[in-house]
Amino acid sequence: MVYVGVDVGATYIRVGLVDEGGNVISRVKVRQPTTGDENTVAAIIIDAIKDIVRTSAIDGIGIGSIGPLDLKAGIVPLAPNAPIKRFKLVEPIIREFKVPVVLGNDAMAAVWGEYVFGIGRGIKNLVYITLSTGIGAGVIVDGHLLVGKDGNAHEIGHTVVDINSEVQCGCGGYGHWEALGSGANIPRVIKEFVKGRVYRSRIYDKLLKGDFVSTEEIFQAYYDGDELAKDFIDNFLMKIHAAGLATVMNAYDPELIILGGSMALNNRELFRKGIEKYLRRYLAVRPARIEFTNFGDDVGIIGGAALVIKVPDSLRDFVDGYRKYLG
Ligand SMILES: [Zn+2]
Repeated sequence: MVYVGVDVGATYIRVGLVDEGGNVISRVKVRQPTTGDENTVAAIIIDAIKDIVRTSAIDGIGIGSIGPLDLKAGIVPLAPNAPIKRFKLVEPIIREFKVPVVLGNDAMAAVWGEYVFGIGRGIKNLVYITLSTGIGAGVIVDGHLLVGKDGNAHEIGHTVVDINSEVQCGCGGYGHWEALGSGANIPRVIKEFVKGRVYRSRIYDKLLKGDFVSTEEIFQAYYDGDELAKDFIDNFLMKIHAAGLATVMNAYDPELIILGGSMALNNRELFRKGIEKYLRRYLAVRPARIEFTNFGDDVGIIGGAALVIKVPDSLRDFVDGYRKYLG
């Protein structure tokens, strides 16, 4: 049996051929189209699948996508971070390949992939959190994948971690975990952070001049011992992430939280120590273990494939609804 896993990100679409043991046999990465209509994204996915599948027959296609989703319609109705805001996924892909298609959001797919094939195997209370450009979570409680009415349960990046913050989130809200802690927002957040403070620091000097300072640059400066980068990351950013993770533990009582996303994966020790330092300050329950994903960039492909290899009960009604496209 061979399956296709599709990872629809804001910048890239990854497609992989996956065997029933969750091993990626081959993969291809293409850029999200910057122009087009609601069929363009699916057309690109179809071409990419044909590219890696060639002659072999496939048994199903699983998709983990940026959201928010409309799972019933099998579409992304309004993606704030993608170049094309509204696009179809399920219908054109089923019509082309005539195999079962399962759709979930990207973090939902990732947690399911970890549960079926990864370090979360068999752990019935499991959370996957991506700390990257944005912040998202996939949650399994008592072996049950949380989905929600449209597929948008646990948009945990928009939990409030600071009621006094004046930094506005991409969603329009204030003080959200994603607004204050995601890779895309850190360059804005540090500008607020330095107001009224003085540092002997290269990053500080750049900010004073009005220069843009990237998230990668701030982390690099941290390891170089930069005074501002150290104060910002040790005493602010790690508190934000500890508060976010404590909220997840308080809400879902997981045994294990698996962290993914480039910001976490590139700074593992820093995150491990920083979170440990502040977690108990915000925590009401027995803490979960925290690990990092072993799947690297394949996490979305493996997660997508896992959705169709072992269809979660909570997605079954949606999948049954897609059968009408098979005829
Ligand atoms: Zn928000």
